[in-house]
Amino acid sequence: MSLSINFWGVRGSKPTPNKDTRLFGGNTACVKVVAGNRTLILDGGTGLAELGHKMKLNKGEKTADIFFSHLHWDHIQGIPFFQPLYKAGNSFRLYGEDKNPLTFKEIITKQMSPPYFPITMGMMQADYEFISIKADDVINLGEGIIIKTFALNHPGGCLAYRIEKGDYAIVYATDTQPILGARNNDFIKFVAGADVFIYDTHFTEAEYRGEIDGESKESWGHSTWEEGINISQNAEVGYYVLFHYKEDRTDAEQAKIEKQAQREYPKTVAAREGMNIIIGGDYPEKVVINYPY
Ligand SMILES: [Zn+2]
Ligand SMILES: [Zn+2]
Repeated sequence: MSLSINFWGVRGSKPTPNKDTRLFGGNTACVKVVAGNRTLILDGGTGLAELGHKMKLNKGEKTADIFFSHLHWDHIQGIPFFQPLYKAGNSFRLYGEDKNPLTFKEIITKQMSPPYFPITMGMMQADYEFISIKADDVINLGEGIIIKTFALNHPGGCLAYRIEKGDYAIVYATDTQPILGARNNDFIKFVAGADVFIYDTHFTEAEYRGEIDGESKESWGHSTWEEGINISQNAEVGYYVLFHYKEDRTDAEQAKIEKQAQREYPKTVAAREGMNIIIGGDYPEKVVINYPY
């Protein structure tokens, strides 16, 4: 039984639709994982709206487990436009962290109300349930699917997810600064042996250090592709996937970064909207990348 990953939004911080970003894509974070009969969705950025249009057409997908890394706009902005939530007969479980003093449910429902948006969660016809989770949880989804969480280094907190089924593992770790000291050893253990490691590569090392514009980005909550190489080497991941690109990163720049990263860690790929990854499919290689173009 294989795992399938589809990228619906790969951009960081804000949607970026323009001619220089259309190849890698301008929608914010949203990744779909199919494991057997189960559909999992990681984050609800603007890519979730696009995914919703497709899900509506697929009669088999009436239910999904949606995991939020955190609740910044670029990770929730697709929720009001996720059409399957409006349809009776669909059911969803939404997982995320409480942010004191608000519960996860309160955070999502409050921004789905006037004057922010005219439609409230109460007007959505699908069944949905909010499940508050926290770092170091182990969630058994059934059907052999286990989800583990890890606290990343991001303003206001953020969760990484490790999805395991049988011998296969995916780690989704976006929106994090490099993790320092002993805590980084814990993170490497969390990532260890993942077949696919999706990581926040918002900045280059030079941008992060402030060598480009004189302004250090070391407290901005995002990491670099170079840091992802270190983690990938130490954790011996199957594939390192670059993700959450700086909003003004052009396709030409991103393609160049992908090539640089591949020289240091050959099993690297930069996520593109529409890209698919299969783990454990009917191929000689355990991990296969299907490019959208
Ligand atoms: Zn983000
Ligand atoms: Zn964030």
